[in-house]
Amino acid sequence: MDGPPRSIIIVGAGIAGIACALALSRELTPFVPDLNITIYERHDILSTSGGAINLTPVAQRHLAQLGVLYELDRMGPEGGAEVDAIELYSMRSGRSMGSIDFVDQDGNGFGGYKGRRVMRIMLSVAMMNVVEKTPNIDIAFGKKVVGGEELEGKAVVHFHDGSEAVGDLVIGCDGVHSAVRTRWVDPKCPSEYTGMSFLQANIPTSTISTPIHFKSSALNISRHGSILTSFCDRDQDQIFAAAIVQFDQAQLSDHKHDSNQDWATKLRIRSALRREIQDRFSRSAIPCIREITASKSDWLLYPVYQVQPGGRWCLNRVILLGDAAHAMPPRDESAAYALDDAILFARLLARYRSEPLFEVFEAYENLRRETIHRAFKESSRMWDRNRDMGFLEGRLKEWMMPRYVRNHRDEREAAWEFDATQTSLPTPAPSEDLVSLHSFLKEHTAV
Ligand SMILES: Cc1cc2nc3c(=O)[nH]c(=O)nc-3n(C[C@H](O)[C@H](O)[C@H](O)COP(=O)(O)OP(=O)(O)OC[C@H]3O[C@@H](n4cnc5c(N)ncnc54)[C@H](O)[C@@H]3O)c2cc1C
Repeated sequence: MDGPPRSIIIVGAGIAGIACALALSRELTPFVPDLNITIYERHDILSTSGGAINLTPVAQRHLAQLGVLYELDRMGPEGGAEVDAIELYSMRSGRSMGSIDFVDQDGNGFGGYKGRRVMRIMLSVAMMNVVEKTPNIDIAFGKKVVGGEELEGKAVVHFHDGSEAVGDLVIGCDGVHSAVRTRWVDPKCPSEYTGMSFLQANIPTSTISTPIHFKSSALNISRHGSILTSFCDRDQDQIFAAAIVQFDQAQLSDHKHDSNQDWATKLRIRSALRREIQDRFSRSAIPCIREITASKSDWLLYPVYQVQPGGRWCLNRVILLGDAAHAMPPRDESAAYALDDAILFARLLARYRSEPLFEVFEAYENLRRETIHRAFKESSRMWDRNRDMGFLEGRLKEWMMPRYVRNHRDEREAAWEFDATQTSLPTPAPSEDLVSLHSFLKEHTAV
């Protein structure tokens, strides 16, 4: 292949996949007028599962740059709830333990952006709206990738239905269980269960009669795990509740909903999950939490998997981005890392457009590896605090939490100022021909 890739295949229409398509279209189109990007997604339609997601100021800034925030705002109340802070509470005593603020002392967001909690499906719809307006991006649903290979200077992906697609470059954005990773780039790097799960429910605010103790979002902490409670629409009609709990791997298959289950199984799972929530949190000192745990809403189980970030990220014509490369125990920044990946990779590909792909991949890895390693370690440490613990350890956790939040404030706020569209990038090293020409000229002009 000469010059930059003209035909790009992206696997997965999640946050990383769509952001990557949009960023590539923006960065490469001026140099590659016949650029064609195709996203292949395994679901037949956009998935409605997954609950709500928190977007940090960085994630919002990057979504704004890609045109997605405008689409979210156009959705009205369903485009998400503004989050000034995630307040922290002890479920044992009901006391406030500080807050993770998305605004400065004057109430302004970082670089103009605060936090936002939005239902995943709404974010996906907003992203798809931008894709539809971008002429050189196509999307094909119902195309599950099962493997791939590199053949004669091209990359070929194989689909479950027996068909295949050929491109100059394949970008695997197919999430934590990525087939591009496990069946092609690095089969030795499977996803692993973290031992922790989310139990999530949406609760109509009108069903809660006690005072709601948080303004927009709160993390309520106990020694049996935490519950995040947050509005996820601007009118505050719905409370999104997500318990982060230790959950035995052997129990997972017995507690996961599946569309093929009969009603009796569904009923059994529903009651088991409600019991799990009540056993852990119904004695909270916060009345609103007690009411949430007694709510009739259905709780769904989302086991949390991770991918160790030390694995291989690329071959010659294929690279992994987002959770496919480095799924970490999720925290508010996880989606932001997927967006950073997409924007940085697209900028590098445009800057290195006259260089071979391996140089782009190398530059990308040099830029990202260390940041991702650090983030992964920090996420794992944070998640460990949600494991079940004894009475004394639980008290220690409560005592440490406000200090921890205070001590990491500057670090958090610096991270929220990050702008992947502006951060400086390496420049390609001059090719050998240019180096030798340069030396030749130097030698022959020296007196
Ligand atoms: C329960 C939970 C809560 C979370 N909460 C937050 C939060 O509040 N804030 C935050 O920042 N992050 C959060 N995260 C993390 C965040 O969701 C991920 O980091 C982010 O979604 C990663 O985006 P991605 O595009 O890499 O992967 P994904 O969003 O997983 O997208 C992958 C896409 O690839 C498709 N796909 C998969 N396999 C194939 C295949 N074989 N062929 C074709 N397509 C395929 C999938 O259907 C999907 O559309 C949470 C994660 C979980 C599990």
